[in-house]
Amino acid sequence: MSDNIETPVSRRLASVKNIVIVLSGKGGVGKSSSSVQLALSLLSLSPTTRVGLLDLDITGPSLPRMVGLDIPEATVHQSSAGWVPVYVDQGRRLGVMSIGFLLKDRGDSVVWRGPKKDGMIRQFLSEVRWGELDYLVVDTPPGTSDEHISLLTHLHPLFTPNISRPTTPTSILITTPQTTALNDTIKSLSFTRKLQLPVMGLVENMSGYVCPCCGEISDTFGKGGGEQMAKNQQINFLGKVPIDTVLVKLLDSVSKGELIGQGAIDAKIEAEAQADE
Ligand code: ADP
Repeated sequence: MSDNIETPVSRRLASVKNIVIVLSGKGGVGKSSSSVQLALSLLSLSPTTRVGLLDLDITGPSLPRMVGLDIPEATVHQSSAGWVPVYVDQGRRLGVMSIGFLLKDRGDSVVWRGPKKDGMIRQFLSEVRWGELDYLVVDTPPGTSDEHISLLTHLHPLFTPNISRPTTPTSILITTPQTTALNDTIKSLSFTRKLQLPVMGLVENMSGYVCPCCGEISDTFGKGGGEQMAKNQQINFLGKVPIDTVLVKLLDSVSKGELIGQGAIDAKIEAEAQADE
């Protein structure tokens, strides 16, 4: 592959400084929750940091609910410069894109074969007008599926460092301490190695349990397996997140979010898009 290959995806993502792909071997280990928490933590780095959150779980999108925007008004708009993500805040510092925002009925199921999913992922990567982003956090489905292969195939031009875009995508693995989850995490790790995707490190989620009464962390569901695995596999261990009942309530509660001034945001983006042309 040539060093300076340009594609619609590489052109679109040229304004994104860092891409972090969140992976897990199994479903239900907290990958989407971790993606949201990562995006929020990155957002808090500075008052000007801008973050995008891209949901590539085409058949099971959960980010709209987790960011509190599982509401009919939260829809993706088409501007002359591409799809406008749904912004969580008025300042347009956290934009979210998910197939969930494109479904007429949020309860609709998406039953698509590989090529159709690939088309959607290509569109998500090449047609969303994120603007300048410090971080794009990409939440993926569990395991190593068609979606992962599509994502990495389309991102491949970014893997070759060049003058216009010196950073390459990286990944974070999420696991729980249980052996079954750890075994599947090794498969995800092997996938990253085969595709030469850098790994920033591993997070052990649901590690221990925070007592809602006294706040003490107990070891009921086990902990430490992820840390040990990171050591064995010679990857960075990024930390442990305990099971927290408050977090479940916050993430799973029915959305009460409200879109503040989306119309004004759309108009501003349209004006910027026209100024770009
Ligand atoms: P995945 O994306 O891996 O399928 P999710 O992020 O959807 O997993 O999490 C599955 C469920 O577990 C959700 O209901 C979420 O609220 C909950 N959850 C995730 N992490 C934690 C945690 N640290 N403490 C408590 N609940 C959690």
